[in-house]
Amino acid sequence: MMPHVPFTDALVERLARARSVAVLTGAGISAESGIATFRDPGGIWERFRPEELANVRAFLRNPELVQAWYAHRRALVAEAEPNAGHLALAELETLIPDFTLITQNVDDLHRRAGSRNVVELHGNLTRSSCIDCRRPAAEADLRMLASGEPARCPDCGGYLRPDVVWFGEMLPVEALETAHEAARRADVFLSIGTSAVVYPAAEIPRLAREQGAYVAEVNVAPSAIAGDVDEVALGPAGTVLPRLAAAVRARR
Ligand code: NAD
Ligand code: ZN
Repeated sequence: MMPHVPFTDALVERLARARSVAVLTGAGISAESGIATFRDPGGIWERFRPEELANVRAFLRNPELVQAWYAHRRALVAEAEPNAGHLALAELETLIPDFTLITQNVDDLHRRAGSRNVVELHGNLTRSSCIDCRRPAAEADLRMLASGEPARCPDCGGYLRPDVVWFGEMLPVEALETAHEAARRADVFLSIGTSAVVYPAAEIPRLAREQGAYVAEVNVAPSAIAGDVDEVALGPAGTVLPRLAAAVRARR
């Protein structure tokens, strides 16, 4: 007997036949890796709100504070492992000719799970660069922070910042354009573990549907766009996605 699955046979069939698939993920896909939200219990960091740290003014006012917060977040992410949901998406990529994984996450877990065609809309926490000359920073450059001084660029002395999109900053134009193109040509679009309230990422599933894609949401609870999709598969991504990938594999 088939175990109960929260998705339709139509979704499996469409994925099995699809030439092009695009996926949008949000923080929910990393929840089962223990990276639920910005607001993880983190000692002194509970006293700060992300909005107060993740912006360029806060950074320029107090670079070592913001650098230390990101060092803390990098440590959490380094200790975490990709979960079954990340791994299932990496497997789906091997089954479908044209597959684009668009993520709002900065935790690098999709790449570590083996996904290759990843579009990072909000950057990546594991990379840093000079705020002035943009030179990529090495691990060793960031260690200056340990002495209580802000970590600086060895070339020009500018402060080093994480390569993430802060509040008030534009999304990388090229990544957004690549995401839009993938949404436009997708036969099937999956919106996974995102509340779909943060724009412009939240409009990508709608764009895909307007262009004819079958759109399915995977979430533990219906999101803001649940009324505008073809189906909602309720359940944790780490349970739903491996079953979906297995069903597609069996059909392809
Ligand atoms: P969000 O926190 O607004 O929404 C998370 C969604 O995931 C919710 O709809 C929730 O119902 C769902 N969810 C929770 N657990 C789930 C599970 N196990 N399986 C499936 N769904 C689950 O996150 P968002 O939509 O990504 O937007 C918030 C912003 O915060 C983003 O811009 C993102 O860049 C940033 N952020 C990133 C990370 C990360 O890199 N891991 C973590 C926190 C926040
Ligand atoms: Zn520099």
